[in-house]
Amino acid sequence: MSRNVALIVAAGRGHRVGGPLPKQYRRLSGGAILAHSVTAFARLASIAAVRVVIHPDDAEHYQEALSGLNADMQTKLLAPVAGGASRQESVRLGLESLTEDAPDAVLIHDGARPLVSEAVIERSLTALAQDIGAIAALPLSDSLKRATPDGRSIEQNVAREGLWRAQTPQTFRFGDILAAHQAARGQHATDDATVAEMHGASVALVLGDEENIKITTEADMVRAEQILMDRSDDRPADSQEWRVKVGLGYDVHRFSEDGDHLMLCAVRVPFERGVASHSDGDVALHALVDAILGALGDGDIGVHFPPSDEKWRGAKSEIFVAHALKLLLARHGHLDHIDITLICEQPKLSLYRDEMRDRLASLLGLPLSAVSLKATTTERLGFTGRAEGIAAQAVATVRLPVEAP
Ligand code: MG
Repeated sequence: MSRNVALIVAAGRGHRVGGPLPKQYRRLSGGAILAHSVTAFARLASIAAVRVVIHPDDAEHYQEALSGLNADMQTKLLAPVAGGASRQESVRLGLESLTEDAPDAVLIHDGARPLVSEAVIERSLTALAQDIGAIAALPLSDSLKRATPDGRSIEQNVAREGLWRAQTPQTFRFGDILAAHQAARGQHATDDATVAEMHGASVALVLGDEENIKITTEADMVRAEQILMDRSDDRPADSQEWRVKVGLGYDVHRFSEDGDHLMLCAVRVPFERGVASHSDGDVALHALVDAILGALGDGDIGVHFPPSDEKWRGAKSEIFVAHALKLLLARHGHLDHIDITLICEQPKLSLYRDEMRDRLASLLGLPLSAVSLKATTTERLGFTGRAEGIAAQAVATVRLPVEAP
């Protein structure tokens, strides 16, 4: 049997600003996106080993993401290697790291395509019996239009016959793709099939899968969750037993005369005042951190980040959220849902709600469907009603593994 190695490329940082977790480490139905991608290959008898190319700063995220793999799969997992400045460079470095191993075939796969099926992988390997390379792709079904330079109207209809959308894995005989990538250094190619073609190899198309999506947007996260949920219906039940826990958080900050904005859910909201606070005063994130800590039964934000500690002066509250998520991950738990209510008379928050939800989803690695955010006034009653300050309540629903007795 030939030795086939999956090379999973996960070295990108995405273009999203902020947030503690690069996209490939965000959680999807109980595991990091990358863990799903690795598992898709590592569970197959036809795959001898899996190597992941990571960003040099992501070693810790990588360890956390893949620590839950079962022992069989762990033995197939080669140590990760650091990628380069572009995807192409990362693939080349990944291939070079396999030189000693010298597998027969290498399946190059995007870390952000966690839903690749066994059928697509097996079709790709089968194609190598005849071809040097084979990529998963789908024939285009939508009509194609070329737009005018200003992008406003149609300049030309493009015949879609013979056009395919490339996916991954892109599978090659190892020696050929290594040579092609080394020859292509400094040249820009859109994918590995292009690199192979530049080197004179002809690459076969094998049928991909509509569900083999690359996760780039929040909508993709939701769709991927849905696909995983549908698939799990006809698979044996996860033997892990979970206990659902709910945590509650509440926080208040007083408005102060100096300042011209509030930080709320990590979004800057212009306002005629600021808040009195040791950190950036993000009342929503503080309530959220307390909710997560509450579900873990692990004290409150003041215990973990004492206001007496100068270290936290002016700190971004995202740091506190990332810390709470780490504590959750350390217990192999999962955040399933959050619900936040902001309570204030001023400022008006409706304009910022969508952006705040996006930021929360991004910070927490949750699909938007698992992020609820509301705002209310108190009918001019009490301190919020008198616009002396702002309050927030948060509820976090988490799942924790039931410890074996
Ligand atoms: Mg606070």
